[in-house]
Amino acid sequence: MDLHFLFIGQTCLLAATAAMLWVARRDDDRGNGLRTWRWAITSQALAYLVLAIPGGGTLNGLIANLAGAVSVALFFVAIRTFAGRGHDGRVLAAMVAAVTIAGAVTGERVAWAAIFNGFAYAGYEWLNAITLWRDRRPETTRVQRVMAAFYACMGLVLPARAIVLLLVGQSHLSLDHENAWQVPIYLFGFVYLAVTNLGFVLMCKTRAEAEMRLQARTDDLTGLANRRALDEAIAQAFARARRTQRPFAIVMVDIDRFKFINDTHGHGVGDVTLAAFSTRLAGALREPDRAYRYGGEEFCLLLADTDLGGARTLAERAREHIMQPFEGTMRSLTASLGASAWQPQDTADTLFHRADRALYAAKTSGRNRVETA
Ligand code: GH3
Ligand code: MG
Ligand code: MG
Repeated sequence: MDLHFLFIGQTCLLAATAAMLWVARRDDDRGNGLRTWRWAITSQALAYLVLAIPGGGTLNGLIANLAGAVSVALFFVAIRTFAGRGHDGRVLAAMVAAVTIAGAVTGERVAWAAIFNGFAYAGYEWLNAITLWRDRRPETTRVQRVMAAFYACMGLVLPARAIVLLLVGQSHLSLDHENAWQVPIYLFGFVYLAVTNLGFVLMCKTRAEAEMRLQARTDDLTGLANRRALDEAIAQAFARARRTQRPFAIVMVDIDRFKFINDTHGHGVGDVTLAAFSTRLAGALREPDRAYRYGGEEFCLLLADTDLGGARTLAERAREHIMQPFEGTMRSLTASLGASAWQPQDTADTLFHRADRALYAAKTSGRNRVETA
């Protein structure tokens, strides 16, 4: 296996990966770094392609150095973007300029550029490794760890190679037999390219799926968890209660005379009021209790490890919290609440039926009150 063969292989892999990312591009790639990554890999592929042209002169070297430096900077930006972190464009531009100038100054003596780049790029490899390791998202933790490990390895390999090039006093970087000691480095480069590209695409895919799952369980208007999320949480609460024999409780909350708001101020104001009410309701809870939009102007509170007495106390506190006037207006809302707590023979239907009955009792006995069943 010779270096030339490995180099051409890497060039093909880069070009194919870049082409695939262009074919699969979507408008909503924005925001997670995938767009920047696509440009980075394109720039890297360009650098390799230019170097692969036989008999390339100084201009080719310059273009390759520039494209290579741009790609390294863009990979860094893509990873920072994924992590939700910023970057200093001026520092990146300075790095690109430094690497390009170093390439131009060393001219045909490509090894000197390789030595300089080895140290400059190793810094980026380490920064990438640190960002991926530090800013781990729960759903992509394992991929990020593997990626970080590969970046850290490359952060060692590049300066090590540069040091060896210095030690052997090499001024021309050729891909012939003298350089056979670099075969393992090129092989590692191959695996590194495959792992980092696949890894980043998987990170973006996994995050997009997690965001979609969250979106499917979130109510658009109020930002609260929705009915689907409630159904899942109730199923989990039942399983846990059966296992531990410790009760949980639900509280149905229905805004009083909400139709009046819609009728007098219009549906738009009704929507804004619903959103403000939801924030208020969620603010009355403590972890791990949670508020869900059940539908319309009805909400459900799911209270972990709570019996009927505890549910009444919490519902009473929520009712008082709800009554506070909203900031900037003198207006206030009231709600009626019906609570029920898990009993061993319960199904979701019987539990909700009791809470509904309690809510109905609160409505019929004057509203703005708490009833239990
Ligand atoms: P009660 O005290 O008996 O609960 O009176 P109410 O007026 O709150 O009860 P009712 O069920 O008669 O009316 C609920 C209203 O909530 C009717 C419906 O138009 C309104 N509503 C439900 N969902 C939304 C929504 O998403 N936005 C707006 N603006 N209004 C909504
Ligand atoms: Mg209602
Ligand atoms: Mg109502």
